[in-house]
Amino acid sequence: MHVADIAQTAHYMLCQTGLMNWLSDLEIFATLVAAVVHDFEHTGTTNNFHVMSGSDTALLYNDRAVLENHHISAAFRLIREEDCNILQNLSRDEFREFRTLVIDMVLATDMSFHFQQLKNMRSLLSLAEPTVDKSKAASLVLHCCDISHPAKRWDLHHRWTMSLLDEFFLQGDKERELGLPFSPLCDRNNTLVAESQIGFIEFIVEPSMAVCADMLECVLGPLAAAPGSTLARTPAVSNDDTQGNEGNAKFKIRKPWIACLSDNKKIWKEQATKDAEARAKQEEESNNPPPPTEE
Ligand SMILES: [Zn+2]
Repeated sequence: MHVADIAQTAHYMLCQTGLMNWLSDLEIFATLVAAVVHDFEHTGTTNNFHVMSGSDTALLYNDRAVLENHHISAAFRLIREEDCNILQNLSRDEFREFRTLVIDMVLATDMSFHFQQLKNMRSLLSLAEPTVDKSKAASLVLHCCDISHPAKRWDLHHRWTMSLLDEFFLQGDKERELGLPFSPLCDRNNTLVAESQIGFIEFIVEPSMAVCADMLECVLGPLAAAPGSTLARTPAVSNDDTQGNEGNAKFKIRKPWIACLSDNKKIWKEQATKDAEARAKQEEESNNPPPPTEE
């Protein structure tokens, strides 16, 4: 379900921001295939769990991007099968380019690469004349899609949060069985859901979406400014910001995720307050048990 969601989200980003106008057909194809395979044969446990439990996959990939390496490797093995080979009509050069793109994009979904990836893109965009690599751009977009559920409507975001927690708690159960320390968010008896989601939104998702939007505006600005461009006239792009003659500097994409992120954060904050009150009440009751009823 998650990869279907991420493939749909990647499709949305390609079409609605106008990014598809900047990428070649092969790059668009690679982005969508990367979205579809990016969690192929996921074990429902994290890289940290693979490393700590010394799984076969961790041994195979020497503890580095264990799952991501597996997703790519298993997907390309499957694609190689006669009846699955969706790449058979690509030329040798096209295949090489496609494979490199998919490998780069899926490896970049490893959360341990998150802060470095954002930092690299930020410093690139701060240059006077940034040239953004297509593979780096598509990788950042896919990574943002991968963590985008808090950037969607509350009902969707809430469902994905609950599904993810189910997965984390099952990992926590395995960790308890194996005598391993709990990974973050995996202890079903000691996880503050609302607080952790607020942190995830503030420290991970909001900064990612902001850098991604800056990058999209940077690469799409010159396209929108080109004579005869349809980009600025697509409904997804706000026209009021594109009238100036400064070209790229004025080009802005629509960012429907900003409102969702802020709405969702507000709901979690209300929830966090309620949870804290409930905990305080529970604690008070356990410290001051009600007097025994007379017999
Ligand atoms: Zn994913």
